[in-house]
Amino acid sequence: MTARRSLLLALLGGPAWAAAPVDWQGLTEAQWRARLTPAQFQILREQGTEYPFTSPLLGEHRQGVFGCAGCGLGLFSSATKYDSGTGWPSFYAPLPDAVATRPDDSLGMTRTEVHCRRCLGHLGHVFPDGPPPTGLRYCINGLALVFTPSK
Ligand SMILES: [Zn+2]
Repeated sequence: MTARRSLLLALLGGPAWAAAPVDWQGLTEAQWRARLTPAQFQILREQGTEYPFTSPLLGEHRQGVFGCAGCGLGLFSSATKYDSGTGWPSFYAPLPDAVATRPDDSLGMTRTEVHCRRCLGHLGHVFPDGPPPTGLRYCINGLALVFTPSK
């Protein structure tokens, strides 16, 4: 590639510009609506909850990573997925530095809300009735997840 072509690409916003990180926490509601389906938006951005036993991911038993449907960050390994019987995809642990939590006192209950650390998208809740080794149950909306099987 010639120097002139490199310069042109740089000016046009070539590879360096394309690789600029998205400001996930700075996206507007309109930008999120453009990125997500209405159902995903309702879960991720409006703290919704999908109907139980509706997620195709309940039957996903391949090895791989469950990522955030909002920003793509890897959140849960298939190695920590288990059948909780609740009707929502369940995991006993997230990947390191993937999720964050905060108290949720809505619906007259005290629960712990779980969201994506990177885009703050709502994922579900975590409860202290999970299996070993953590004893935690990450009860996650399938609509908030995108599964990528291991190669
Ligand atoms: Zn995210």
